[in-house]
Amino acid sequence: MDSQWKERFNWSISRSRQWGWCRKGLFFKCIRKYDKDLFAKKLDRLSSLQSIRFLGGKAVHNTIFEQIQQHELGRPSSLDSALVSTSSYIDDNLKFGKDLIVEIQNGMKIDKATIQDMHTHTSVCVRNFCERHAPNLVAVDYLEHEQYRDYLMDGVLVKLRPDFVSRSGSIVTATDWKTGKATSLERIPQVPVLAEYTSKHYACDLAKIRVEIVFLNPYSVLTSNCSESLIDEMHCRIRGEMDEILSCKSEDDFVANPGHHCLSCNFATVCEEGSEVIKGSPKIFSIGETADSTGDSED
Ligand code: SF4
Repeated sequence: MDSQWKERFNWSISRSRQWGWCRKGLFFKCIRKYDKDLFAKKLDRLSSLQSIRFLGGKAVHNTIFEQIQQHELGRPSSLDSALVSTSSYIDDNLKFGKDLIVEIQNGMKIDKATIQDMHTHTSVCVRNFCERHAPNLVAVDYLEHEQYRDYLMDGVLVKLRPDFVSRSGSIVTATDWKTGKATSLERIPQVPVLAEYTSKHYACDLAKIRVEIVFLNPYSVLTSNCSESLIDEMHCRIRGEMDEILSCKSEDDFVANPGHHCLSCNFATVCEEGSEVIKGSPKIFSIGETADSTGDSED
């Protein structure tokens, strides 16, 4: 374990989630992977696989990315090409699944109904984006989309990738697309992070920042004028998590939390606890409800 890891370690929403699910997974993904040996190379390759749970969300984000590029060029969005692009993204990933999909790498086949549900769900998301949301974009100025960004929060480097940032008059809006089930703004950690990043990056008073969460199936939009107190709460949370993570002294402090989620863990093939879970599980993988996948950006 590289003794310099603490200097390199930064915070992101996906790292925070991983810390909550399984600390050993965070160790593999964000610390051990950067060592300079063969095992680290293997971890690096495994990190690049994506879970079938996120494939539908990724496909929709990818399509919206293309559609917003068209918006940036002043062209209208096209539903037909968006639907084809989404469906092809899913099919191409499944075609080369052994090298791309975590669950297949972990020795499972993907249930046919799961794939069919994913196609149905993603096509509704894309249709809602093109028909119900894209018309709103005509009037706004494009600022950025899907760029890796970071900012300093009380000495902690916070990493993020805003889905879309736009300006209308004096208001700057950071938008996050969601393909998962609708929930309340308070339960979405992106809200204060996006608000603070946007305020800092565009040197804009918090009162002029809006965060917009767009649920694509069923379609609904939540908007927030993020308050200082919500941002303070987020600072406390991030500082608390960073203190816990950085107090780890050795690999043993990153305790494994084996469970059903090991089936979709990138590192199950190299993790003793995860391998045991896989051994005792059915060989056909089924998500159940594809709409649970958020498609949120990973590190
Ligand atoms: S396989 Fe399971 S126990 Fe092992 S790192 Fe992944 S989630 Fe944790």
